[in-house]
Amino acid sequence: MNVADVDDISARLNAYGGRRVESPEEADLVLVNTCMVRKKAEDKAMSYFGGLKHARNAAGRPPFIVAMGCVVPRNQQKIRETYPHIDLLVNYSDPDLVMNQLMEQFEPLAASAMDDDFSPAMTTSIGSQNFVTAIRGCNHRCSFCVVPWARGPQRDEPIDKIVAEAREHELRGAPDVTILGQSIMAYGKSSGDGSQRFIEMMEAVLENTSFPWVRFLTSLACDMTDEICERIIAHPRITPLLHLPIQSGSDKVLSDMRRKHDVATYRRMVEKARSVRPDLYLTTDILVGFPTETEADYRETYALMEEIGFDDAFMFAYSERPGTHSARHFPDMLSREVKIRRLSEVIELQRRTSAERSRRYIGEELDVVIEAVNEEGAVARTSFNKPIYMPGTARQVGEYSRARIMTVRVSAFTGEEISVEHAAIPARV
Ligand code: SAH
Repeated sequence: MNVADVDDISARLNAYGGRRVESPEEADLVLVNTCMVRKKAEDKAMSYFGGLKHARNAAGRPPFIVAMGCVVPRNQQKIRETYPHIDLLVNYSDPDLVMNQLMEQFEPLAASAMDDDFSPAMTTSIGSQNFVTAIRGCNHRCSFCVVPWARGPQRDEPIDKIVAEAREHELRGAPDVTILGQSIMAYGKSSGDGSQRFIEMMEAVLENTSFPWVRFLTSLACDMTDEICERIIAHPRITPLLHLPIQSGSDKVLSDMRRKHDVATYRRMVEKARSVRPDLYLTTDILVGFPTETEADYRETYALMEEIGFDDAFMFAYSERPGTHSARHFPDMLSREVKIRRLSEVIELQRRTSAERSRRYIGEELDVVIEAVNEEGAVARTSFNKPIYMPGTARQVGEYSRARIMTVRVSAFTGEEISVEHAAIPARV
C-alpha cells in the first residue's frame, strides 16, 4: 500500500515535469513515506530523517524534505525539534492530501501546471508491480493493528475508477496489475448497505482489460466465500497467488486478536481455494508473541503452519502499537527472549517448508515478467510474484518471457530463459 501511494505521488509529480531519481543527493524534493505498523518501522523512519540532515543536491542546496505517512502525526513535536531540516510534515500518505500540501508549500510546484491527461497509473515503474488502490483504510478492528487508526475507515473507490486506472496501466504497457486493499475481499462492504462487491469489481477489471495476470492483495478469511473461490480464484487470468494472513493457529488468540475468522474457517477456505486452484501459491502473515499467547497457543500456530504448508510467510513478533485495543487491554508481558525464540522457530520452519514446496517447480517452465536487467543477468517474476534470477534475457524490462526453473532458494528461483513466441500467456503454471 505504501509503495502504491508513493508510485501514485511520483506519477503526479511526473505530470508536473518532475523525474524520479535514485538518491537524495540528486533530488530537489525528498518525500519520506513512513510506516508505524511495528515499532521497528517507526524507529527506522525517525533515524532516516536524521540521516538527511546534511543532504545536498547537485546545486549544493539542501533538498526540500517532506515527512509523510503514519509516523508523522504521532511524532510531530519530536520531528520538529530533532529534525529541523525537514521542511514539511504531512500527517497522511493519501496522495491527494500530500499533493494539496505540496502545491501550497513547494514552490516549483505552485509555479507549474499539471498535464491535463494525468492518471495515477502514469507511474514510471513498468517492470515492477503495477498497483491500483481499490480500498483505502480498513473497517476491521484487529486488536493488535494500528492500520485502521493510521489510515482511517474503509473507503472504496468506485468500480469505474478502478477499471479506468487498470486500463491506463495497460495502455502504458504494464504487463500485469495488482488490485489493493487492506482487506480486498471486503470491497463494497463500506458502501452503507454492507453488500460485498469484490466479485463484481474484479470481474469488471477482468472484462475491461486483457492483462494475462491480475492479482489482488490482501485477503482475509472472514471475507472469503465459496463463490469468490469459484469465480475469482479459479479464474485463469487471476494469478495463483493467494495471500491470506492467519496470524495465529490458536482460536483463543485469534479471538483476543479480534480476527473475525477461526482456525476452522481458515482451514476450510484454504481447502476450497486449493480445490478450485490446484496450482495455488499460498502465503500468509504470522504474528507470534501476542500478549495472551501461551506456549501451548504458540505450539498450535507452529502445528498449523506444518499442517497447511504455506509457500511463503511474513512473520513478525508482536509489537505494541499506541491506541490499539490490545495496547489498552493486554499488557505486553511476554519477554523479548520468548518472542524472539518463537519468531526464530517459525522462521526456521517456514524456511524449510518454502524450500520443500518450491521444489515442485524444479524443471517446470513458467511464464515470467522481466523486472530488471544488469551486467550480472536478469531478474524476473513469476505469476505468483517469486523472483527468479537468470543469467540473461533477450527481452526488455516489463516484457513477458518464459523460464525453466533450475534451482530453488528460500524465496527465489534461479532459472534460464527459454525462447518461445508468446501468443497468449496463461497465468496457470
Ligand atoms: N490488512 C492485513 C495486513 C495488515 S499489516 C491483514 O489484516 O492481514 C501486515 C501484517 O503486519 C499483519 O498481517 C500482521 O501480521 C503484522 N502486524 C500488524 N500489526 C502488528 C503489530 N502490532 N505487531 C507485530 N506485527 C504486526
